[in-house]
Amino acid sequence: MNPVALITGASRGIGRGIAIELAKIGHDLVINYAGNADAAQRTRDDCLKLGAGKIRTEICQADVGVAADRRRLMEFTRQTFGRLDLLVNNAGVASRGRLDLLDATEENFDWLMAINLKGPFFLSQLAARWMIEQKKAGGDGYKPKIVTVTSISAYAASSNRGDYCVSKAGLAMMTKLFAARLAEYGIHVFEIRPGVIATDMTGPVKAKYDALIAGGLTPINRWGQPDEIGRAVSAIAQDWLPFSTGEVINVDGGFHLRTV
Ligand code: NAP
Repeated sequence: MNPVALITGASRGIGRGIAIELAKIGHDLVINYAGNADAAQRTRDDCLKLGAGKIRTEICQADVGVAADRRRLMEFTRQTFGRLDLLVNNAGVASRGRLDLLDATEENFDWLMAINLKGPFFLSQLAARWMIEQKKAGGDGYKPKIVTVTSISAYAASSNRGDYCVSKAGLAMMTKLFAARLAEYGIHVFEIRPGVIATDMTGPVKAKYDALIAGGLTPINRWGQPDEIGRAVSAIAQDWLPFSTGEVINVDGGFHLRTV
């Protein structure tokens, strides 16, 4: 039986990159998306090709910011595959309007927090409860994991998207909390912290980041690509970090290094 991964926001960008890398190593997949059904179908088709007839992938639309959708997504996974080995909390949105801190609105804040922070928190809770159930049902080979995609914005302050930064800082703590709570059940929890990655999300600010990268923003002096996040998730999925939990994996071209 293949391990099963549920990836939120897998229709495009980083989530798609993660789905593709997990397909390559023989995971069955639940590809979640919010509104872009065609893109989800493209991810599914590409994963099935890479899986070469050995994997199953299914698509499930759900808004991770909505409690009923989160429950439906988890129930879909249970009904369709009967197991969950890996939850990847990847879905996320950029700050609406990139407003200065002094102009930020509560409406935008609540919208972003529901998707970027509350969604992953309670989806992790649902996954963890089910994983504990599966663990108790036996199976020594069952090594469930939860991975959350955060950002360098978990610690780098951008005053024109405070809501986004706060959501990612919250996810960093969420990873520690779930890691500490779930270790006794053999459920390991990781944070992946991407730097500047070429996706639709960064499309509108491409010129800005092109200039920053040209100016030496990162020691590895280029944009990151979605498959590079996917490969980090693949390493975790393959249990290559068996004595680690609560770990932060920076996939950022060295952005986090301080140099003088
Ligand atoms: P993206 O290209 O905009 O793709 C976002 C994905 O999330 C899409 O699959 C989208 O689905 C899905 N999504 C959006 N809102 C959702 C919701 N409410 N419920 C379920 N799915 C939803 O973004 P990305 O750059 O790949 O970002 C993915 C994650 O990486 C985010 O958490 C982001 O904060 C983080 N990140 C990105 C960068 C970067 O430089 N790109 C850097 C650090 C961290 P639809 O296709 O249906 O809209």
